[in-house]
Parts: sequence; structure tokens; C-alpha cells
Amino acid sequence: MYGCELLASTAGQEKQQLDRYYDKFNADIDADKMLHVMSYINELRQLAVSQQALEIEVESYLLEALVKRRYGAFEEGVKLNNYALELAQSAGNKEYTAWAYLHLAHLEMELERFRFAQEYIQHAIDFYENDNSEYTAFMYLWQSKIYLAKGSYHQALQASEKAQSVTANIGDLSNEVAVNHAQILLKLGDYQAAQLMLAKVDPNQISKSQERVRLHYYLALANCYLQAGDFKQAIHTALSQLENSYNTHFLDEQAQLQFLVASAYRQQKEYKLAYRYLNRYSLSKDALSLQRRNNKVLQLEAHFKFDSQNQQLQLLGKDNALKEQRLLQQQQTIENQQLQQQRWLLAGILIMCVLAFIYWRWQNQRYLVTLKQQVAERTHALAKSNELLKTMSYTDSLTGLHNRHYFFSVINQQLAKLARINHLLPPAQLQNLIFAVVDIDHFKNINDSHGHAAGDQVLEQFSKILQQHSRDSDLLIRWGGEEFLLVMDNLTLDEAAHTLNRMRNAIANHQFTLNHNEALQCTCSVGFASYPFIAAMPELFNWEQVIELADGALYLAKENQRNSWVGITPATEKLHWQSDDVVKHYRKYLLAGDLQSYSNITAKLKF
Ligand code: GH3
Ligand code: MG
Ligand code: MG
Repeated sequence: MYGCELLASTAGQEKQQLDRYYDKFNADIDADKMLHVMSYINELRQLAVSQQALEIEVESYLLEALVKRRYGAFEEGVKLNNYALELAQSAGNKEYTAWAYLHLAHLEMELERFRFAQEYIQHAIDFYENDNSEYTAFMYLWQSKIYLAKGSYHQALQASEKAQSVTANIGDLSNEVAVNHAQILLKLGDYQAAQLMLAKVDPNQISKSQERVRLHYYLALANCYLQAGDFKQAIHTALSQLENSYNTHFLDEQAQLQFLVASAYRQQKEYKLAYRYLNRYSLSKDALSLQRRNNKVLQLEAHFKFDSQNQQLQLLGKDNALKEQRLLQQQQTIENQQLQQQRWLLAGILIMCVLAFIYWRWQNQRYLVTLKQQVAERTHALAKSNELLKTMSYTDSLTGLHNRHYFFSVINQQLAKLARINHLLPPAQLQNLIFAVVDIDHFKNINDSHGHAAGDQVLEQFSKILQQHSRDSDLLIRWGGEEFLLVMDNLTLDEAAHTLNRMRNAIANHQFTLNHNEALQCTCSVGFASYPFIAAMPELFNWEQVIELADGALYLAKENQRNSWVGITPATEKLHWQSDDVVKHYRKYLLAGDLQSYSNITAKLKF
């Protein structure tokens, strides 16, 4: 709270101080005390900035420029003028932009560069065209002054008339406009109109700050007298003002007054006096032209420096822009490079991934192929070992003959095949299978007397003989121990008996050899039966029952006379037979004559 109040009060004080300075500033400018202004102009400007009094700030620049120009510091003057213009333009302040143009026009007029002066004043007028205020009048007045200085009197007159049309009839401005108008009229030779114009002005009402206007008034008045032929009055008027002008810096007006006095004296034929004033006029003119020349040179220098500084600034600006552009380009290049690098990196990673994937797939496929190969190899090996196992499981290791397993695995196929064949054949030509069981006689004795190994050797040799005496189509099975099953297809009982007898004989006649070259004789007994057991009823006795009957026949052979064969067959085809009972009590059926036996035993068989 206190802080804010403090600030506010500080701001209030500043405002008061600014107002004070500004009043003093205006008073000093009016009193033409330009040098006084320089002592506090900076403080005034700082206050104007802190109080955001833009107009005072701009005005301070414009008037400082005026002071600087008057005392020869044109370079700074031009700078300040231009600075004021920029400030007013950037702030969008029309009035002060126009003022800045006016000052520039004044400057160009001093340089006698009227074209530029006219351009500037036209810019200034453009801001006030429809305003019809004192400012408009002021601008037209200055336009008129420029035309007058240039020698375009009619245009000067037009501009002056415009100025008059918007001026109130009192005050400094109307006085100045009237005096200017009178001056133009005098240039055009119309001294009467000029006199009328001057009559509107009361010279005593002209304020002190308008010293120059007052001088111009009297100059014009004296000129009127001169043109009207009232030389005495002209000389009087001019001389009274000439006295006043010596203490001022209005050299131009002083010279004009001197020239006017000289002209009047010449008209009065007072040549001595005319010569004196002409001389003075010449001196004043010299001083004036010297001042003007100096001004001009200085101003030109200032302009040149200003321009060259501007150029340098522009160059610097361009250089900066160029550098900035280059920097941007470099930045862009770096960014592009980075982007490119990132792209390459990404592409690299992608390629690596793809390669890794391809490699992984390739490895996988290779592994898969190897795996498949291994599986195939193992499957093959397995199949082979299975085959081997099968062979092994179907084969009797001692004799190399098929075993019971093998028989069980093929017998049904064999019987089905037989059934298929018989299905197509007439009853008289039906085919059959002979099941014969072969057993070595007193084999236990061989084991007992020669050892188990010798028994094995006998078994091996025995098997070979059986093989030699059987056909390829026959099934020769090691049924168990020293027992063999021979299945022969499509044989009548007689043919079977014949074959088996041949086999039995071969065994009986064979010389078995043992390890220690011992020779051995042995015999075997055979029992057989046919399947179907009853041709008209193939299903009545199954193959197991037929083997049991063959086994029964073998028992009969053993019991009656070893080294023999016995076959059992039905004596009559009794279709009501209970096959189980027949198999179980086959001896009873033999006795009853329902079953019939065949044998190589000549004696009557005992059952
Ligand atoms: P039969 O004339 O009544 O047939 O008398 P057998 O001595 O031949 O019959 P038995 O049934 O009394 O004896 C058979 C013997 O065969 C008993 C057993 O030790 C022997 N044997 C069974 N298999 C083998 C084998 O593989 N090797 C040997 N060495 N002996 C076996
Ligand atoms: Mg036996
Ligand atoms: Mg035996």
C-alpha cells in the first residue's frame, strides 16, 4: 500500500517537474534562448519518457535539432530530426509526424533544395488537408514560404491564400501570414495590395518571439514605400529596424534592409550614402553567404554522414540477415544430416532385423530339415528294429523256425484264404489243411545222458530235416520244447500220411552228431488231423480243436508204438456232434467207431 502511494506520489512529482520543464522549454524557445534549452533538454526528455509523454519527447527532439542546426551541429540536427520523425511515425502520431516533416522541409529549404522541401511540406500538409485548423494554415504558410524562396510567386500566392482562408484574423499566425502575403505581392510588384495587407497587421501586437516576423513586416512596409516612391519614409522605416537588427542573428533581413536603404538613397541621388549602405549590404551579404555556405556544407556533410550511416546500417542489416540465413541454412543442414543419420540408423537396424530374421528362419529350416532327417532316420531305424523285433518275436532263436506267435498271427489269414477258395469250389474239390504235431521220442533221455547242449544240437538238426521234407507253402512251427507243428495245405489224408511217414523215416535214419563227434540216433512220433474236420460242416470244429485231435493222435502213437504216425478222421459225417465232447472223449468215439484212425502201426491200435 505504502509502496504504491509512494510510487504514485513519485509519479505525480515527476509529472509536475515535466510540466515545469516543458513550460520553461517553450518559454526559452519563444525567447530564442536556445542555449538555455540545452542545459536541461536531457532531463526533460527522460521525464517525458518516464511519463510516456510522447509528444513532448518528439518535440524535444525536433527543437533540439533546431538548436543544433542553428549552432552548426548539423549532423546531430539531421539525426535528431529523423529520429523524431521515426518516433512519431512508429507511435502513429499524425500531428507530430507532420511537424517532423515540416522541420525537414525547413532544413531542405535552408539547403535551397526546394524540390525536397516541397515534398516534405506536402507530406506534412497531407496530414492536415481536411483539418482547417491553425496547423493547416501553418503548413500552407510554410509551403508558400518555400515557393517564395524558390521564386514561384504565383504558387506562393495560392498557398498563402489557402493559409489565409483557414486563419483567424488575430494572433501571431495571421500576422505572419499577412506579412508573407505582402512579401509575395511586393515580389509581383503590387505594392498597393501589399500595403492593404500590411494594414491588417498591428506591429505592436506582434509578440517578442516573432521578432523575425516583425522585421519582415517593416521590410515589406519599407518596400511598399520604396515602390510607391516615398523614399524618405522607406529610408526612415528601414533604418529604424536596421538599428534593432544588429543585435540579432537575422543577417538576411539585415542585408535586405541595407539594400533597401541603399536603393532609396540612390533614388534620392544621395550616392555617397547609397554607396555606404551598399557596402554594408555587401559585407552583410558576404557574411550571410559565408554562413549559408558553411551551413550548406555542414548540412550536406551531415546528410552524407547520415546517409552513409544509414547505408552502413542497411549493409549491416543485410549482412546480419545473410548471416542469419546462413546460420539457418547450417542449422537446416545439420538437422537434415541428423535426420539422414537417423534414417540410416533406422534402415540399418531394420536391415539387421530382417537379416537376423532371415538367418533365424534359415537356421530354423536347417534345424527342421535336420530334425526331419533325424526323425526319418530314427523312424527308419525304429521300423527296422521293429521289423527285427517282429522277426525275432516270430522266430525261434534255437532252430530258426517260426514260433507259436507267428502261427497265431497268420493262421486266421490262412483259414480265411482257404474259406475264400472253398467258397468258389464244388463240394468234391474242396480244399483242406493238415495239422500235424511232431514230437521227438524220449528226448528227456538225450538231455539226461548227453546234456542239455547236446539236446539243443539235436533240436537244431531235427528242425533242418523237417524243413527239408516240407514244402514252401507249408507252415513249420516250433510248437514248444521238442514238439513241432506242421500245417500243410491241400493234401488228402493219404498224401499227408505219406509225407509224414517220409519225414519220420528221414529222422529215424538220420545220424545226429554232437559236440564231441558223438553220433546219435533218435525217432519221432506224429499225430495229425484235417481241417475242416468234417468237409460238409467246416465250422463245426475250429482249428484249435483240430490241433487237439492231432495231439490226441500223437498220444495214441506214443502209447502204441513210438517212431510212428497216427491220423484221426471222422468215420461218418454226423452233423449233430458236439465238437467239445468229441475232442475231450476222442478215445470213446474211436472205440465207438464214430472216429477212425490211420497209422503205420500194423497192430490194432489200443485206445
Ligand atoms: P516221449 O517219448 O514220451 O515224448 O518222452 P520224452 O522224454 O521225449 O518227453 P518228456 O515230455 O517227458 O520230456 C521232454 C523233455 O524235453 C523235457 C525237457 O527238459 C526237454 N526239453 C524241452 N525243451 C528243450 C530244449 O529246448 N532243449 C533241451 N535240451 N531240452 C528240452
Ligand atoms: Mg513232448
Ligand atoms: Mg517227446
